[in-house]
Amino acid sequence: MHTINTILDLRRHLDMCRAAERTVGLVPTMGALHEGHASLVRRSVKENDVTVVSIFLNPTQFNDPKDLERYPRTLEADCRLLESCGGDVVAFVPRVSEMYPDPDLRHFSYPPTDSVMEGAFRPGHFNGVCQIVSKLFTYVMPDRAYFGEKDYQQIAVIRRMVADLEFRLQIVPCPVVRDESGLAMSSRNSLLTPEERALAANIYRVLKESIVLGATVRDTHDYVVNTLNAIPGLEVQYYNIVDGDSLADVSEWDEAEHVVGCITVYCGATPIRLIDHIRYK
Ligand code: AMP
Repeated sequence: MHTINTILDLRRHLDMCRAAERTVGLVPTMGALHEGHASLVRRSVKENDVTVVSIFLNPTQFNDPKDLERYPRTLEADCRLLESCGGDVVAFVPRVSEMYPDPDLRHFSYPPTDSVMEGAFRPGHFNGVCQIVSKLFTYVMPDRAYFGEKDYQQIAVIRRMVADLEFRLQIVPCPVVRDESGLAMSSRNSLLTPEERALAANIYRVLKESIVLGATVRDTHDYVVNTLNAIPGLEVQYYNIVDGDSLADVSEWDEAEHVVGCITVYCGATPIRLIDHIRYK
């Protein structure tokens, strides 16, 4: 594993790799790495000759300055974790001024994928995601780019952007990694107290219970929202049961080939915002 800080050095290194016909995988991250990130890195190491892991806390995707301020920063531990993944891994760790020498004035719009759920509650979030991911795609020119299904909606938005801008690469979605309690691993989990962590485990428990209910879409939705809201310390911001590809709401199970429930819950006193999803079909 070695670290590169500038776009110029990154491009030089990858040009040499490609000249030697080596394939390149990209894993974009914001740091504070955990086993969820490591699963993407290991997959890329297995499927590519070189893996670039970007560690960049992208300011343009934070609509809440407090969220950005308290986001965990653990670069040394991140490097140790990447080291433990083995393979030919490059950590790309640029400064903000490197990625945004000038304000990024580009505007991306892919409704409904980027306008519902996270898009509705975090205005500008997906625009920032598209800004940084499109820059990374341009600089790295990966053969494959790895994204976690934990951020289910993000993958749908990035697929639209890839089609729109005609990037020649494969998006590889990777399954959610959970801790023993079922809680989806997230960098923000480190901000939870042990009690809040125990509370947060209810999110996936209730989502799983809702599968076996065998109820209508409406009743399934209400069961998840009412059960979680009845737990002190949890507050559902939204729960949408959607077409897993277009992300449009469904009202009947047979309305779409894939049906997914996407949830965001506020947890604890701070509160910390947690996202998760469940596949019904
Ligand atoms: P982030 O650093 O939160 O921007 O995440 C970087 C990448 O890791 C994204 O593609 C996330 O979806 C993915 N990721 C984060 N947490 C997990 C997890 N628990 N399981 C699988 N992938 C994850």
